[in-house]
Amino acid sequence: MAERRREMVDGLRQKGISDLRVLEAMESVERHRFVDEKSHSFAYEDSAYPIGYGQTISQPYTVAYMTSLLAERCPPPAKVLEIGTGSGYQAAILDAIGYRVYTVERIRALYDRTVQLFAELGLPISCRLGDGSLGWPEESPFGGIMVTAAAPRCPEHLLQQLAENGSLVIPVGEQGMQRMTVYRRVGARYEKELFHYFAFVPLIGREGWN
Ligand code: SAH
Repeated sequence: MAERRREMVDGLRQKGISDLRVLEAMESVERHRFVDEKSHSFAYEDSAYPIGYGQTISQPYTVAYMTSLLAERCPPPAKVLEIGTGSGYQAAILDAIGYRVYTVERIRALYDRTVQLFAELGLPISCRLGDGSLGWPEESPFGGIMVTAAAPRCPEHLLQQLAENGSLVIPVGEQGMQRMTVYRRVGARYEKELFHYFAFVPLIGREGWN
């Protein structure tokens, strides 16, 4: 599996991922642990994959892309919040880079499974079950926030939970296609930057889709 992981990371480099912290994390985290055993042979292909309950583990390229956007703006060991725990893979990458990671999932079965996996792997990631479109106010502010589901617009609650100079990385747009967007808190203002298009499963919640 280590050889397959090296090949995956070579592929990411060829696709333009250059942040060494990100490439090292992607080489060290065993992605096959985050999919079921039947899928182990697919684990190092650069594609999204079903994890049950209509959800997917994000494509390695997407994970590397979002993590690079965050790491450039908000270096570890900042405190970061991920919305949409899913398989736990993106959270494990954030942990491997040295962030203090908090993550929220709305589907109980995924939450239970991933909490157990983090315990097995010994990962110190704090998990919460609930509507992540409202963030995790008790643990705010966060130096970085990453949303791994598609939002119709940027949730106000998440912007409010950013620390000064903190960045929020979030795919925003219609279901089917969203634009990767970064909001940075600068005093009382938010600066917005637009990046490439991606397709995520929907963010479902009070500040997401109904
Ligand atoms: N980061 C995950 C990606 C999982 S797909 C990974 O690496 O595997 C997106 C996840 O967001 C799904 O598990 C979905 O249930 C979850 N989700 C959707 N809306 C949410 C909400 N409002 N709050 C928390 N999680 C949500």
